[in-house]
Amino acid sequence: MLNLVLFGPPGAGKGTQSEKIIAQYKLVHLSTGDLLRSEIRAGTELGLRAKMLMDQGILVPDEVVIGMIENKLKENQAAAGFIFDGFPRTVPQAEALDRLLAQYNTRITVMVALVVNEEELTKRLLIRGQSSGRPDDQNEELIRRRVKEYNDKTAPVANYYESQGKFKAVDGIGGIEEIFQAICEKIETATSNVQG
Ligand code: AMP
Repeated sequence: MLNLVLFGPPGAGKGTQSEKIIAQYKLVHLSTGDLLRSEIRAGTELGLRAKMLMDQGILVPDEVVIGMIENKLKENQAAAGFIFDGFPRTVPQAEALDRLLAQYNTRITVMVALVVNEEELTKRLLIRGQSSGRPDDQNEELIRRRVKEYNDKTAPVANYYESQGKFKAVDGIGGIEEIFQAICEKIETATSNVQG
């Protein structure tokens, strides 16, 4: 199996690159942000609670997103692999993911981090906000809070994978195709080194 964590701050291009990676490697896409937004649209209790936090740019509790990922892994046992997008966002989430994957005798193959500076992120998210309809993309203060959440709680996840020798950084500024090729190179190197 190929299990990829696509990592990076909000606005780094994870969604765009995920689509290309899925098409190339036939992976199941698991985006906790998308899963939470579909709970909101369905008007579930979980969605209502998550929305209050998401509208403030704050992370939802670990157990909520871990539970969602657990369900999706169970539903997709025949998958060729997964791309985790926007998850794990804390070290406890990364630890839980390792435990869940071990239950299926598999593991994370590689983490690819898209590196983009804060000014560029803010600019991209404000542009995305004009068409995405996402309330959390439309206000600069909220965007800066999301980037701060990322720096405080999510950036340490990179060290977690680094300590497992799985962290690979890619420059997230440039053409979509060029960035995609750089990601593919990291994946190819990791899969030629790792079995399973
Ligand atoms: P995203 O679409 O990945 O930018 O996520 C949008 C919002 O959903 C985030 O600002 C968080 O409030 C919430 N969220 C998404 N994924 C996670 C996660 N793995 N852990 C905690 N909160 C999350």
